[in-house]
Amino acid sequence: MRLKSVAMVLFKGVEPDFSKVRRDIEAAIRYFVPKLPIHEIAVAIPTGAYVAERDQLDANRLISELRSSEAVKDRKLTLAFTEMDMFYEKMNFVFGLAHAGWGKAVMSTFRLSRDPMLNPVSEGVFRERVFKECMHEIGHLWALGHCQDKKCVMSFSSTIIEVDGKLPRFCNSCELKLAPGLRR
Ligand SMILES: [Zn+2]
Ligand SMILES: [Zn+2]
Repeated sequence: MRLKSVAMVLFKGVEPDFSKVRRDIEAAIRYFVPKLPIHEIAVAIPTGAYVAERDQLDANRLISELRSSEAVKDRKLTLAFTEMDMFYEKMNFVFGLAHAGWGKAVMSTFRLSRDPMLNPVSEGVFRERVFKECMHEIGHLWALGHCQDKKCVMSFSSTIIEVDGKLPRFCNSCELKLAPGLRR
């Protein structure tokens, strides 16, 4: 993967409060690309991505719109963020979605900042979850699949409890798969 820069996309009007988590997102990006510039880009929510009956964004729609968006289409590493809740196909909600071939990932902080009853959690818990989910989605962009090791950051999380159960790092096996790409 040859990269010149990283695009950090904020969906206008529904962007997360970056003051709390910017450094955690940057730390996750820096794990993969220590030196590339990170450009912050504001993008309007694509028409049709918001589904009013569910009050959620369609992750699939967001990611395919990013692929053709003038602002980021040529960027091989694009991480987009929203505070709104997001769903994907038949799943009621997702924390994130990545498309490795396009180099694009979208993430929702909605459930990362809340407990299972949707009450707010502490800033420390929120920040750790954001870091883990960024590592996870960028891991997908580096062609990693889901890992069976529940402690590995690449394990699939269908609930916030599972996100909390993972460690903020790759297991040895995932780390080995990543290593050649990181050295490139
Ligand atoms: Zn995943
Ligand atoms: Zn793993």
